[in-house]
Amino acid sequence: MTEKRVIVVGAGIGGLSAALTLAARGFDVTVLERAASVGGKMRALPVGGAAIEAGPTVFTMRWVFEELFAEAGASLESEVRLRAASVLARHAWTANERLDLFADIDASAAAVSAFAGPREADGYRRFCARAAEVYRTLEGPFIRSDRPNPVELGKRVGLTGIGDLWRIQPFATLWSALGDYFSDPRLRQLFGRYATYCGASPFAAPATLMLVAHVEQAGIWTVEGGLSRLARAVADLAERRGARIRTGAHVARIVTERGRIAGVQLADGERIAADAVIAGGDVAALGAGLLGPDAAREGDRVPARERSLSAVTFCLNARARGFPLAHHSVFFSSDYRAEFDAILRGRRLPPDPTVYVCAQDRDDAGAGPDGSERLLVLVNAPADGERRFTPQEIAACETSWTKRLAACGLKLEPASPAAVTTPEGFGALFPGTGGALYGRASHGWTATFKRPGARTRVPGLYLAGGSVHPGPGVPMAAQSGRLAAAALIVDLASTPTWRGAAMSGGTSMR
Ligand SMILES: Cc1cc2nc3c(=O)[nH]c(=O)nc-3n(C[C@H](O)[C@H](O)[C@H](O)COP(=O)(O)OP(=O)(O)OC[C@H]3O[C@@H](n4cnc5c(N)ncnc54)[C@H](O)[C@@H]3O)c2cc1C
Repeated sequence: MTEKRVIVVGAGIGGLSAALTLAARGFDVTVLERAASVGGKMRALPVGGAAIEAGPTVFTMRWVFEELFAEAGASLESEVRLRAASVLARHAWTANERLDLFADIDASAAAVSAFAGPREADGYRRFCARAAEVYRTLEGPFIRSDRPNPVELGKRVGLTGIGDLWRIQPFATLWSALGDYFSDPRLRQLFGRYATYCGASPFAAPATLMLVAHVEQAGIWTVEGGLSRLARAVADLAERRGARIRTGAHVARIVTERGRIAGVQLADGERIAADAVIAGGDVAALGAGLLGPDAAREGDRVPARERSLSAVTFCLNARARGFPLAHHSVFFSSDYRAEFDAILRGRRLPPDPTVYVCAQDRDDAGAGPDGSERLLVLVNAPADGERRFTPQEIAACETSWTKRLAACGLKLEPASPAAVTTPEGFGALFPGTGGALYGRASHGWTATFKRPGARTRVPGLYLAGGSVHPGPGVPMAAQSGRLAAAALIVDLASTPTWRGAAMSGGTSMR
């Protein structure tokens, strides 16, 4: 039997995961990536002679990758070196207000108690239990399954699960739900920040997103070489299983013939025939018609105000003084609501931002080099990538975060200029997004159900990546790739191989 030919558009982690799964199952897989290297948002930038991770740095839900590698006949641990973190993150408000969270709940509860008193520690334990319950309720019927609508989700969790579903307060915002557990505003801010892992505001995200807190509590790992290395490992294994990966290949059009997928056309005019295509870029690109009229999906037009957050990131080599950075450190703004109002209503960079710093040369607890070190500094920003922030605005942003760090005692002495990525830069890297890093914003209880699933209305066209079900973040995007591969395997098994007169006038790769 002829192998079924699958084209994956984009070598982000969703596309790569789908490619690996399909190549391991014997499909003829070609990944077409417009950038010069694989990984998409999982990328590193050269700064002053060192490669600095400029994308995701917090690695969770390791089981997704364990299963992905195992299903391809390999093991995660033999492909990448992982180290479990005992300190999840260090959080600071001022020079005297600092709180570490640990992988061990008892250690965290003791830290919360010392920081804010025993009642808050009790609230923390109740919160952890509820977040775990939310996660348990949704892992099988949602994260591991095709996209449900609300009624289907109800059916999947079953009669006993309905109570669980109701208890997870889908209609409350995360911010208001946190009030049931914490009266200390700093703790509400700390746990509300988990909404930003999906690019959402805690003031608009559903309480369901507390599951992110559980995901982090269940384990964070550092990956030797950074998360860009993990993406490379998935790509390498996919190639060993027979997939071809072409970088510098921009897909300009997804082509259909007689109503079903026939292949793609590259920006240079080359045509490649396929039985199926997995679109691994942001679905907003399809909605905006950037992949041609055949694949334009009206439903995926995402107005700027419904986009998730963007960011301004600074990758720099610097000497850090005055504050004991951990691998992950967060410096909180003095008014969280004002920060999100500035970003989402004012559409501007917040004058007093919450700042995330990843000190990539340090272990989880903070042991590391004495001199200059590799840092990623990130602040949230509006996803208005069509508009260029002026150099003055970016300079003001740098001044704001420098002040926020200084308020907590931290001073950075850069050894070389930083590599800065703005929303406009992210928009250029990831077509159709306007710089939104996590697809459609998870605001309101229906937002989750607005993310498309793997199957589309076009036979043979599938979707993967952080803008589709089950959502953004490295493991979730990888999970979307696995779901797309699974749907494709089922569907193509019942479809005769398409060797079109399709792609007429075009060239096939082989
Ligand atoms: C700064 C930052 C920090 C983050 N922090 C974390 C974190 O700590 N933990 C976490 O889990 N997640 C984090 N995330 C989110 C996470 O990185 C993403 O959700 C995930 O990597 C998205 O994967 P994806 O499959 O959607 O593909 P993407 O990474 O979006 O890649 C899509 C790929 O498709 C390519 N492409 C698009 N269009 C075309 C075309 N027409 N032709 C060819 N190629 C095309 C693009 O070039 C790109 O390589 C972060 C993201 C950013 C940007």
